Amino acid sequence: MLTGGCLCGRIRYRISGAPIGSTVCHCVDCRRASGAPFVGWVSVPRNAFQLVAGATKTHMSSPGVERAFCADCGTPLTYRHAAFAGEIDVATGTLDRPDDAPPDNHTWTSQKLAWVQLADGLPQYPRALPEP
Ligand SMILES: [Zn+2]
Ligand SMILES: [Zn+2]
Repeated sequence: MLTGGCLCGRIRYRISGAPIGSTVCHCVDCRRASGAPFVGWVSVPRNAFQLVAGATKTHMSSPGVERAFCADCGTPLTYRHAAFAGEIDVATGTLDRPDDAPPDNHTWTSQKLAWVQLADGLPQYPRALPEP
Protein backbone atom coordinates (compact mmCIF):
# COMPACT_ATOMS: atom_id res chain seq x y z
CA MET A 1 0.00 0.00 0.00
CA LEU A 2 1.37 3.37 -1.08
CA THR A 3 0.03 6.57 0.42
CA GLY A 4 0.59 10.22 -0.32
CA GLY A 5 -0.86 13.68 -0.61
CA CYS A 6 -0.32 17.31 -1.50
CA LEU A 7 1.84 19.89 0.21
CA CYS A 8 -0.93 21.49 2.28
CA GLY A 9 -2.35 18.11 3.31
CA ARG A 10 -5.95 18.71 2.21
CA ILE A 11 -5.65 15.99 -0.42
CA ARG A 12 -4.67 12.50 0.62
CA TYR A 13 -4.68 9.31 -1.45
CA ARG A 14 -3.85 5.66 -1.23
CA ILE A 15 -2.78 3.11 -3.80
CA SER A 16 -3.63 -0.54 -3.31
CA GLY A 17 -1.54 -3.18 -5.00
CA ALA A 18 1.72 -3.00 -6.88
CA PRO A 19 2.53 -0.25 -9.39
CA ILE A 20 2.55 -1.11 -13.11
CA GLY A 21 5.70 0.91 -13.59
CA SER A 22 7.63 3.99 -12.59
CA THR A 23 9.28 6.54 -14.84
CA VAL A 24 10.96 9.92 -14.81
CA CYS A 25 9.44 12.12 -17.51
CA HIS A 26 11.48 14.87 -19.13
CA CYS A 27 8.75 16.26 -21.39
CA VAL A 28 8.05 19.96 -21.76
CA ASP A 29 4.48 19.66 -20.48
CA CYS A 30 5.47 17.90 -17.23
CA ARG A 31 8.20 20.49 -16.74
CA ARG A 32 5.80 23.38 -17.18
CA ALA A 33 2.99 21.81 -15.14
CA SER A 34 5.31 21.13 -12.20
CA GLY A 35 7.87 23.90 -12.40
CA ALA A 36 10.53 21.20 -11.98
CA PRO A 37 13.23 20.08 -14.47
CA PHE A 38 11.65 16.59 -14.68
CA VAL A 39 8.88 14.67 -12.95
CA GLY A 40 8.64 11.16 -11.52
CA TRP A 41 5.43 9.23 -12.19
CA VAL A 42 4.23 5.94 -10.74
CA SER A 43 1.70 4.18 -13.00
CA VAL A 44 -1.01 2.22 -11.23
CA PRO A 45 -4.30 0.61 -12.29
CA ARG A 46 -7.02 3.25 -12.30
CA ASN A 47 -9.08 1.36 -9.73
CA ALA A 48 -6.07 1.01 -7.40
CA PHE A 49 -5.91 4.77 -6.84
CA GLN A 50 -8.31 6.25 -4.32
CA LEU A 51 -8.65 9.75 -2.90
CA VAL A 52 -9.23 9.50 0.84
CA ALA A 53 -9.35 13.23 1.65
CA GLY A 54 -10.09 16.35 -0.37
CA ALA A 55 -10.83 16.73 -4.07
CA THR A 56 -8.53 17.56 -6.96
CA LYS A 57 -9.01 20.19 -9.62
CA THR A 58 -8.21 19.13 -13.18
CA HIS A 59 -6.66 20.72 -16.21
CA MET A 60 -6.63 19.31 -19.75
CA SER A 61 -3.03 19.97 -20.77
CA SER A 62 -3.50 18.49 -24.26
CA PRO A 63 -6.27 16.51 -25.99
CA GLY A 64 -7.09 13.46 -23.89
CA VAL A 65 -4.64 14.39 -21.12
CA GLU A 66 -5.99 15.35 -17.72
CA ARG A 67 -3.68 16.61 -14.99
CA ALA A 68 -5.08 16.86 -11.46
CA PHE A 69 -3.72 19.09 -8.74
CA CYS A 70 -4.59 20.60 -5.38
CA ALA A 71 -6.42 23.89 -5.93
CA ASP A 72 -5.29 25.14 -2.52
CA CYS A 73 -1.54 24.56 -2.65
CA GLY A 74 -0.95 23.78 -6.36
CA THR A 75 0.74 20.40 -5.94
CA PRO A 76 0.49 18.33 -9.17
CA LEU A 77 -0.88 14.92 -8.21
CA THR A 78 -2.01 12.76 -11.12
CA TYR A 79 -1.92 12.37 -14.90
CA ARG A 80 -4.44 10.47 -17.02
CA HIS A 81 -4.36 9.81 -20.74
CA ALA A 82 -7.54 8.82 -22.59
CA ALA A 83 -5.58 6.26 -24.63
CA PHE A 84 -4.66 4.47 -21.38
CA ALA A 85 -7.98 4.72 -19.55
CA GLY A 86 -7.18 1.81 -17.26
CA GLU A 87 -4.16 3.54 -15.76
CA ILE A 88 -3.42 6.63 -13.75
CA ASP A 89 0.01 8.13 -13.11
CA VAL A 90 0.70 9.50 -9.66
CA ALA A 91 3.48 12.04 -9.08
CA THR A 92 6.23 10.12 -7.31
CA GLY A 93 7.24 13.16 -5.30
CA THR A 94 3.82 13.27 -3.60
CA LEU A 95 4.21 9.79 -2.11
CA ASP A 96 4.83 9.64 1.62
CA ARG A 97 7.76 7.35 0.85
CA PRO A 98 8.95 8.03 -2.71
CA ASP A 99 11.85 5.63 -2.23
CA ASP A 100 9.30 2.80 -2.27
CA ALA A 101 8.65 3.46 -6.00
CA PRO A 102 12.00 4.08 -7.70
CA PRO A 103 11.96 4.68 -11.48
CA ASP A 104 12.45 1.92 -14.07
CA ASN A 105 13.43 4.27 -16.88
CA HIS A 106 13.51 7.81 -18.26
CA THR A 107 10.96 8.94 -20.86
CA TRP A 108 10.85 11.88 -23.30
CA THR A 109 14.61 12.36 -23.05
CA SER A 110 14.43 14.08 -26.46
CA GLN A 111 13.11 17.05 -24.47
CA LYS A 112 15.50 16.68 -21.52
CA LEU A 113 17.27 19.79 -20.33
CA ALA A 114 20.87 19.90 -21.53
CA TRP A 115 22.26 20.38 -18.03
CA VAL A 116 20.52 17.29 -16.65
CA GLN A 117 23.08 14.47 -16.79
CA LEU A 118 21.60 11.00 -16.31
CA ALA A 119 24.01 8.61 -14.65
CA ASP A 120 21.73 5.99 -13.06
CA GLY A 121 22.11 3.48 -15.91
CA LEU A 122 18.34 3.16 -16.43
CA PRO A 123 16.91 2.80 -19.96
CA GLN A 124 16.23 6.09 -21.71
CA TYR A 125 13.43 6.58 -24.25
CA PRO A 126 13.35 9.64 -26.51
CA ARG A 127 9.54 9.72 -26.37
CA ALA A 128 6.86 7.81 -24.47
CA LEU A 129 7.44 4.24 -23.36
CA PRO A 130 7.37 1.85 -26.32
CA GLU A 131 4.15 -0.15 -26.56
CA PRO A 132 4.53 -3.52 -24.85
ZN1 LIG B 1 -2.86 21.00 -1.13
ZN1 LIG C 1 5.78 14.27 -19.23
